[in-house]
Amino acid sequence: TLILTSSFSNGNKKEVYKDASAPVKDRVEDLLKRMTLEEKVGQMNQFVGIEHFKSAQASLTAEELRTNTANAFYPNTTVEDMIKWTETGRIGSFLHVLTLKEANYLQSLAMKSRLQIPIIFGIDAIHGNANAPDNTVYPTNIGLASSFDLDMAYKIARQTAQEMRAMNMHWTFNPNVEVARDARWGRVGETYGEDPYLVTLMGVQSVKGYQGNMNGKEDVLACIKHFVGGSEPLNGTNGAPADLSERTLREVFFPPFKAGVEAGAMSLMTAHNELNGVPCHTNEWLMEDVLRKEWKFPGFVVSDWMDIEHTHDLHATAENIKEAFYQSIMAGMDMHMHGILWNEYVVELVKEGRIPESRIDESVRRILDVKFRLGLFENPYADEKQSMKIRLSDEHRATALEAARNGIVLLKNSGVLPLSQDKYKKVLVTGINANDMNILGDWSAVQKEENVTTILEGLKMIAPQTNFDFVDQGWDPRNMSQAKVDEAADKAKDADLNIVVAGEYMMRFRWKDRTGGEDTDRSDIDLVGLQNELIKKVAASGKPTILILVNGRQLGVEWAAENLPAIVEAWEPGMYGGQAVAEILYGKVNPSAKLAVTIPRSVGQLQMIYNHKPSQYFHPYVVKPSTPLYPFGYGLSYTTYKYDDLTLDKSEIGKDGNVNVSVKVTNTGNRDGVEIVQLYIRDKFSCVTRPVKELKDFARVALKAGESKIVKFNVTPDKLAFYDKKMNWQVEPGEFVVMVGTSSEDSALLKRSFLVK
Ligand code: BGC
Repeated sequence: TLILTSSFSNGNKKEVYKDASAPVKDRVEDLLKRMTLEEKVGQMNQFVGIEHFKSAQASLTAEELRTNTANAFYPNTTVEDMIKWTETGRIGSFLHVLTLKEANYLQSLAMKSRLQIPIIFGIDAIHGNANAPDNTVYPTNIGLASSFDLDMAYKIARQTAQEMRAMNMHWTFNPNVEVARDARWGRVGETYGEDPYLVTLMGVQSVKGYQGNMNGKEDVLACIKHFVGGSEPLNGTNGAPADLSERTLREVFFPPFKAGVEAGAMSLMTAHNELNGVPCHTNEWLMEDVLRKEWKFPGFVVSDWMDIEHTHDLHATAENIKEAFYQSIMAGMDMHMHGILWNEYVVELVKEGRIPESRIDESVRRILDVKFRLGLFENPYADEKQSMKIRLSDEHRATALEAARNGIVLLKNSGVLPLSQDKYKKVLVTGINANDMNILGDWSAVQKEENVTTILEGLKMIAPQTNFDFVDQGWDPRNMSQAKVDEAADKAKDADLNIVVAGEYMMRFRWKDRTGGEDTDRSDIDLVGLQNELIKKVAASGKPTILILVNGRQLGVEWAAENLPAIVEAWEPGMYGGQAVAEILYGKVNPSAKLAVTIPRSVGQLQMIYNHKPSQYFHPYVVKPSTPLYPFGYGLSYTTYKYDDLTLDKSEIGKDGNVNVSVKVTNTGNRDGVEIVQLYIRDKFSCVTRPVKELKDFARVALKAGESKIVKFNVTPDKLAFYDKKMNWQVEPGEFVVMVGTSSEDSALLKRSFLVK
């Protein structure tokens, strides 16, 4: 007994968990055994920051405070309570803390707690740490995906991680690796588009960029989200039911998540929606069977905003909140976003014997593991004096500009672009997005004006000899004024050329008035308000009229596509978006981006995706076309490219063979450019139906005017395999068609076949 007691007390004295040189596993176990149940359950909970809490409280009426979901789970809570809870180690994480001062302050409270377990701060750093002030704002994911630039995805994530750590933020709720298959859904702009392969690669690079080695002071935790199916909601609205077969899940929606796990992502967020009748937040099949058992995910799962509670008050699969917590934890949930009831109910559930404490330990281990790896015990604070040396650095700004240039898609150009300053001396500029910070996009706070170049500012900077006449249409498409539209139409007559900057409004500080972004789903995809009228009336001047679009979801701008000489899709291009747009208009930059989503003509065409099944348009629509407005992979340049000599090194291979593909690409115009060469595959006949084509490789190829390059690809078995009737992943014998070209459109592709024997 004596020996046992002494070894126990020695072990207890030596605080292994505080020893940075001890293996993480030992530190976790040492700390875990010192923790009370209350402290463990606290590590599994997240709160909103104090400033967020106060402003949320202030913005609500007494009635809303009582009923509003976001606040109902902080019943009778005061800031003093939040402080007390933090000081007593009852809160493991905070989100929506937007200043370093507040982060360091909250951390100082955690450092007063018995075991001094640091807080992990989570934030939606979706395209840069843009949600917090004074950070670099890069294009949103849909623009990044349009560049097909995987190195850029890595670089942006890396820089974002550095800026986050400089603010004491440790965990980004990104990458969003959902495959976007409905343009009504307001979150398309947060995604890397509609193609599982492109989404997968973009997601993997982002995970690697954020996490680095998961041990340095510049690394942050990535969170692959939202698991799963919310990007194909039944009616296009955020969080609506997803009814998806296991085949579709495994072929389309799972691959980016699985790859994210393989790339080392250490956290994952479940989706708002139910999946085939079971809410994702209580879905054991997703969290335990697929994620942990099949994919061996070692990290932790976090719930989305109040979504465990929603299994009670929305999905009605839990009779009360406590039951909701029970179901969610037993299905595999590790951390709760967010609110106060968690601590009390989960402790009760353990004490009542419904949740074994060993189950709680599993979650706490996963969370502590990440906190140790990120070095939070050694570096709980960030240095306020150093912070601005890292954030908004020249290097980061240059990256934001380059990313914007590479992500803007030229959709139409009948010759008017690039603009000549000599020819167009007087230019009218108008439209809701012409001179607004909205180019920053969703998930961004208002940034300092001096750090943002609006489109009007960009134009003035790039074309200083031009006389720009600006008619302000306000920021709100829903409240445009007829008088202003008419004023622009009048002035258009006196101009040599008109630029209308239209689209959607995404800035979160006007949450309720937005038309794009999270929770701004639409029953059509037309331009909102008087924007179409503005375009038509300005174009009626007879002067060349160019349309620039700033938006996240696809917009069905069919009239413009048929009637205007040029259209530029800028997406949400970030803080240097204005400069990048102007550089493209005036030919300082040759556009290279290609669409990461198909642009439908109208909402009735949905689901409009390039990788559809063969029978999708067997009976085409009558009256209106069945073709998209612009296909996936499409985008113009100021030069032209020619594809020749598509060659396969073999005409027959075995099931595990490879085919080397080469193609000659020539820049046949007189400008240097970057061409995004795309390789698609079709399995000609198969035991189950397969998409008409699937992107399986691509390359960004820089070509000087007149230059040719041989571009090589390797078709490996994983690019040919699919799930057969029994859901076995296999390569089936038969003919495969390789298609290489400049977009997913059939006429843009060279084709060759080979046989798998
Ligand atoms: C969104 C998540 C986000 C979370 C925290 C939710 O509404 O769905 O993507 O990470 O809020 O801001």
